[in-house]
Amino acid sequence: MKIKNSGTVSLYNLAEELKRKGISIFDFVAGEPDIKTPDHIIDYAFHNAKNGKTHYTSSTGIVELRDKIAEKYENKINKNNVIITIAKFGIYLSLFSIFKRSGEVIVLDPYYPSYPNMISMVNMKTRIIKTNSDFSINFDALENSINKRTGAIIINSPNNPTGRVYSKKDLRKIAEIAEENRIYVISDEIYENYVYNDEFHSMLEFIDLKRLFLVNSFSKSYSMAGWRIGFVISHENNIKKIDLLQQNTITCASSISQYAAIKALEDHSTQKLLREKFKKRMENVIKILNECDKLNVIKPQGSIYVFPGYNVKIGSEKIANRLLKEKNVFVVPGISFGSMGEYHFRISLGSEDEKLEEGSKRIVEFFCKL
Ligand code: PLP
Repeated sequence: MKIKNSGTVSLYNLAEELKRKGISIFDFVAGEPDIKTPDHIIDYAFHNAKNGKTHYTSSTGIVELRDKIAEKYENKINKNNVIITIAKFGIYLSLFSIFKRSGEVIVLDPYYPSYPNMISMVNMKTRIIKTNSDFSINFDALENSINKRTGAIIINSPNNPTGRVYSKKDLRKIAEIAEENRIYVISDEIYENYVYNDEFHSMLEFIDLKRLFLVNSFSKSYSMAGWRIGFVISHENNIKKIDLLQQNTITCASSISQYAAIKALEDHSTQKLLREKFKKRMENVIKILNECDKLNVIKPQGSIYVFPGYNVKIGSEKIANRLLKEKNVFVVPGISFGSMGEYHFRISLGSEDEKLEEGSKRIVEFFCKL
């Protein structure tokens, strides 16, 4: 099994060292909203905990929550299509449940670094397909990569790190390819709340549930990353397989977090507030970065990240190291997300407005002097 450790350990160590010395860091690494979970969600969860809801739940999750999730998807599904779990674990369990010997899973580069690791952990192989230079899907390359070993493709829209949001046409095409080749689609939709000038479209609209594992989370949409709560949607038979794996690993998701999730789904104001805040931040950061012609920023259509490219031939790990040392700005090197990410870096928008503004100015100063 090949699990790649993050190549950025030395960068993290350096950031820690600087922090220990009392230097204030413009830390744009954490991939989550900086805002505390809204009080009404915390209060409801703890009210339930105080009233004794501190026991195991059914392994698939509390019925009320699964019903509410079915409602969220306009009852195109029912509670038997839903299992409550940690989103990241849900991706792993989905992969585990579709294991086939010598099987391959297609991942689009740039990618969330845990995907290839999880694929290795379930003893399958990752088939990396590069996206186009604007990070749109290269459908020719995708179709050419499919062979009899292919088991699934993982897609992530809105995308971490690129901010790309796949159009309805893209999603429909992926669905067609999957149906034609009888492969599964694992659709990681955890940034669904962050689509800035359009409507979000779920893969659920385009593909038969038998072929789909839709993974979603409360982490980003409701600022609930620490609650470790999300879900997987699929055909009932697939959910039964995942359930068996869940029963024999974590048993069930945290009861208290499940109550928090129930409350979160009742109120859309948190989502709107977060979306508007992050859109403003994104626009502000881009405006500043565009002042430097060594930077090439594709405006993200969604997500909570900006992924600027640069036209200086210095590798992204080195750039990130120098940005940290010389400007105390901490970003993720693009190479961490695959070879298409090289000569890019990722800025998370999950920091206060003033910090993002000052940090972006420092990035511009740094590149303009290179
Ligand atoms: N998928 C992507 C693309 C992510 O960026 C993340 C977290 O950053 C996850 C999955 C994991 O989500 P969660 O923390 O809700 O399990």
